[in-house]
Amino acid sequence: MSKNNALFDIECRSCPRLSRFLKETREKFPDYHSRPVPAFGANKPKLLIVGLAPGLHGANATGRPFTGDHAGIILYEMLHKHGFSNKPISTDLSDGLKLKHCRITNAVKCLPPANKPVGDEINTCNSYLVEELKAIDKKSVILCLGLISHKAVIKALSLKQSDYPFIHGEIHKLDDGREIIDSYHCSRYNTNTRRLTAAMFNDIFVQIKVQLKL
Ligand code: URA
Repeated sequence: MSKNNALFDIECRSCPRLSRFLKETREKFPDYHSRPVPAFGANKPKLLIVGLAPGLHGANATGRPFTGDHAGIILYEMLHKHGFSNKPISTDLSDGLKLKHCRITNAVKCLPPANKPVGDEINTCNSYLVEELKAIDKKSVILCLGLISHKAVIKALSLKQSDYPFIHGEIHKLDDGREIIDSYHCSRYNTNTRRLTAAMFNDIFVQIKVQLKL
């Protein structure tokens, strides 16, 4: 299904499978957010981080990207270490966490079954990413966590996928002055298997600060 470019809509029900799954999840966990999860952070960021999709007991529960799960512990700790936030831990919407120069979003805003959005869902949700990318600083860096978010960003920017392959640590300089940096996703699987180590992830943020002259 395709959709015109759109601003984030917490009432979005464009993907039938995801809407059904959210409804089931709301019934099972009545205290959970279980709706599309909005981006979090600065309005005109120098750094836009794009993850995959909310996790069941993480962003889907709390309503904030990467909040309440393993990937988030690693990401928010790293953001604080590199001066992008006032606190190293994100727990819930009322915890007082503020991001500096940074905004976090997901390629897919709704919780997907088994953490796996299908192609149609990624494409439908891309209309939101298009608008989010228009809103960022002209000299910004876009950090893509994993292959799916990388491809979603390339699509949202109307670039050719084959010109911009996903390579961990690669900096893709765009004609408009922005840059894309790729990283393996900081998921439990990737960190447990050491596909992504703490040192590798730290190097990504060192690179980001070099690019942003921070
Ligand atoms: N939580 C998110 O919000 N996004 C991810 O990609 C993983 C966990």
